[in-house]
Formats: sequence, structure tokens, C-alpha cells
Amino acid sequence: MAIATTNPTTGEVIQTFTPLTSEEISAKIAIAHQAFHSYKSIPLPQRSEWLKQAADILEADKYRLGAIATLEMGKTLKSAIAEVEKCAVGCRYYAEHGAKFLQDVTVPTDARLSFVRYQPLGIILAVMPWNFPYWQVFRFAAPALMAGNVGLLKHASNVPQCALAIAEIIEQAGFPSGVFQTLLIGAGQVEQIMRDPRVKAATLTGSEAAGQSLATIAGHELKKTVLELGGSDPFIVLKTANIDLAVQTAVSARMINNSQSCIAAKRFILEETIAEEFQIKLVQAYQKLKVGDPMQPDTDLGPLATSQIRAEIHQQVQHSLTQGAKLLIGGEFDPEQIGNFYPPTILTNIPKSAPAYSEEMFGPVASLFRVPDLDAAIALANDTSLGLGASAWTEDQHECDRLVNEIEAGSVFINGMVKSDCSLPFGGIKRSGYGRELGMLGMQEFLNIKTVWIK
Ligand code: NAP
Repeated sequence: MAIATTNPTTGEVIQTFTPLTSEEISAKIAIAHQAFHSYKSIPLPQRSEWLKQAADILEADKYRLGAIATLEMGKTLKSAIAEVEKCAVGCRYYAEHGAKFLQDVTVPTDARLSFVRYQPLGIILAVMPWNFPYWQVFRFAAPALMAGNVGLLKHASNVPQCALAIAEIIEQAGFPSGVFQTLLIGAGQVEQIMRDPRVKAATLTGSEAAGQSLATIAGHELKKTVLELGGSDPFIVLKTANIDLAVQTAVSARMINNSQSCIAAKRFILEETIAEEFQIKLVQAYQKLKVGDPMQPDTDLGPLATSQIRAEIHQQVQHSLTQGAKLLIGGEFDPEQIGNFYPPTILTNIPKSAPAYSEEMFGPVASLFRVPDLDAAIALANDTSLGLGASAWTEDQHECDRLVNEIEAGSVFINGMVKSDCSLPFGGIKRSGYGRELGMLGMQEFLNIKTVWIK
């Protein structure tokens, strides 16, 4: 995939970038290695100050930064600006709480003094996706830099300007040169970085295939990885739920980020008694969605990020229909139309053999399923190889307890949509990956948790 800014709304290639050579990559690793040796000793209050500066820059520049994201990957400008604001919140969160998370923890043992000390590992590689081009990076970078690690960013090839902007923000915030660098490289060049002994660990957010590839190399090199991969999150609505609120949230939960979010609700599992009402109201809500120019404030759904993503989602829909699924709305697009637009689509009567049953649908397609009761809802929710998040709607405490305990996912949200929150760990189980981001646990992923025992 060429490294380029291609406007998903017009198809126009705005700018292309030459990938770094192998020698240039090695030189950047040397800079990061050098930077780590002094950066790890920088006092925490200073790192915290720089993070606050980064937050200030993000807030002051949110319109320009948001517009770059919209230009490169098509999300609505309003959501792009909100994403930049969220990055500022993330920087401030670790500026405020980081030092506390990094304090020694005394543990009484047979020693005179024994404790746990948290120390940075060194260079961490971040391989990141285009869908939240700022937030995905800052939720790695803020805790990593606060902890004294240094970062190398390999961003997705379709968001090079976002990638360059992030490195600029971190430098402008005052962080020493070399502490965070963007490397404009292709996926095939990640291996060189992973095999370099100066690079200690990696985090990857993206597809299963990318995660497998990185983890294979990391396994060979015995380096730690955190993988945040795909999701096919269930959105379970039971009979005691507030249906209107559930429908309204279902639309947001499916359409968030132009429908390209790992934690978007993708499979809507409806208890039979309320299924018809929910379905009718969901179709009505979908009919009202405004698809169009992501720069316009009243647009609900902009274009998909690339024409390939649109081709893939359309193929999944068509294949599901040939397997017997029924189309309630959408499912058609004009291939002559400029831009990667795909209509809000709802499928029902989905058989097990359909892609809409078993695959992640990374586009504006809601898959509806009807179940007789809670047991069947939980069984269907868990009948997936993925396990990122789950949203479930009920006013019944017993049902709530069972959902919390029995859903196989990295998070369960009751009566709300799945979201990331700086203070809560974020990540998946099963083929959605392993490890956690955010909160204290996210920071600990790339630390040497050192045991100290003194007689
Ligand atoms: P992708 O193709 O895997 O790309 C993600 C990143 O990995 C990009 O930087 C990409 O570089 C790189 N990459 C691709 N193949 C690689 C390989 N073999 N070795 C090393 N790096 C490689 O992912 P995508 O399809 O664009 O993104 C959508 C996926 O990400 C969805 O499955 C979504 O659910 C998932 N996602 C997960 C989370 C989460 O937190 N769990 C968050 C957001 C998205 P190039 O661009 O150069 O190919």
C-alpha cells in the first residue's frame, strides 16, 4: 500500500510520501536508543508538564488537526475534532495520574524491605490503524512517555499527515528530540524494527492478519506485544430495556466513526418479544441518517476510508444475501458515484453460514438476530471468535449479573454503548487480541515490574 493522502470523499490523491530506506530506519532507531538513555532519568513532574503542553497544543489546534483526519480517512469533521479533544484528555489523565501509577509498591515479606518498582523498557514500536488516527496513537504514547519509554510510530499508510502531525505535537510540547518519532514506512518494513535488539516491545492495533504477523516475529525475538484487533461486538436488547433509548444508542453505536470502529456494535441480538418494535424503529432511524460530505456539520455518515473497504463490506453483504439473509434497507451503491460512500444497511434472518454472522463487518451494516430468551442471547453473543466489547440492555438485576459474568469479551457495558475511557482498561480476549491499554494496567504493559528484596 503506497504511503499517501487520498481523499475518500473525492478519490483524489493529494500527496504521496517516499518510505524510509532500511538505513534511515536504522538511523531513527539509533536516535531513539540514544534518547532513551537520558529520557528515562527525566523527573516525572517534567514529563507530566510536557504531557500537559501536548494537551494544550491539541486543544488549540483541534480544527486544523481534525480537518487533516477528515481529509485522509473521511470521518466527519465534528467527530475528528472530538477525537483530538479526547487525545488532550488522555494526555492530561496520564500527566495527572502517571506518577501515582509509577510509585513503588511496598509488599511485606521476609525481607527487611521488599517492594515493586516500575521502570521503562526502552524503545516501544507502535503499529497503528487509520480509523482513530490520533486517539489510537495518543492512548499508547501518553502512558508510554509518562513512564519513560520512547516511541516509534508506524502509522497506517493512508494517514501520513496525521502521523507527522503527532510527532510535531510531541516535539512542540517540549519532549526531547528522539523521544517520539514517526517513521513513514510500509507494513513490510515493520520486521526490521521488530528484529532490532534496541527495540524492546510493540503494540499493534489493527487486523488479525497484521497482529499475527507482528506476534510471529515478536515471538521469535521473545519481545512483548500488546494486540488490539478486531471486534464483532454484540448489542443485546432484552424485554425490560428502554427500547427508544436502546434504538437511539444502537444507531450511534453502529455508525460511530463512519461505522469503522473496532468497538462499534455489529450484531444486534434482540429478545423475541421486543424484536419487531426494535427493528421497525431502527429502520426508521436509519432512513433519517444523512450520508455525505464529512466536512458538513449535519452529516451523520461520511465515506468509508478506502475503496477497498467499501468493496469488502459490499461483498460481505452480497454473500450474506446469497446465503439467505434478508435486506431491510441499504445494500446498494452507485459505483459511478465519486467517493467511497456506502449506505446504512440492515440485515436480518442471517444464517450461520453468512459473513454477517461470523465476520467483523467494518462498515455501516447492522446485523439483526432474534432470540427467545437470555440464555439464547448470551449463547449467540459468545458464538464468535472475537471478544472485544459488548453492550447489553436490561432493567433486570439478575439479567445484568448474568450478562456481566457470562459474556466473553474484554468489556461489558450495561445500558450504554461500548467506549474507551482513560481511567478504565481497554482490550479484548479471544482473537480480538491480548493486553490492555488505558488506565493503570495499560501503562504497566510496557514496564519492567521489578521486584526488589533487601535483607
Ligand atoms: P490493518 O490493515 O491491520 O492495519 C493496521 C496497521 O497495521 C497499519 O499501520 C498497517 O500498515 C499495519 N500492518 C498491516 N499489515 C501488517 C503486517 N503484516 N505487519 C505489520 N504491520 C502491518 O488494519 P485495518 O484493516 O486498516 O484496520 C481495521 C482493523 O483494526 C479492524 O479489524 C478493527 O477492528 C481493528 N481495530 C482494532 C482496535 C482495537 O482497539 N481493538 C481499534 C481500531 C481498529 P499499512 O497501512 O501500511 O498496511
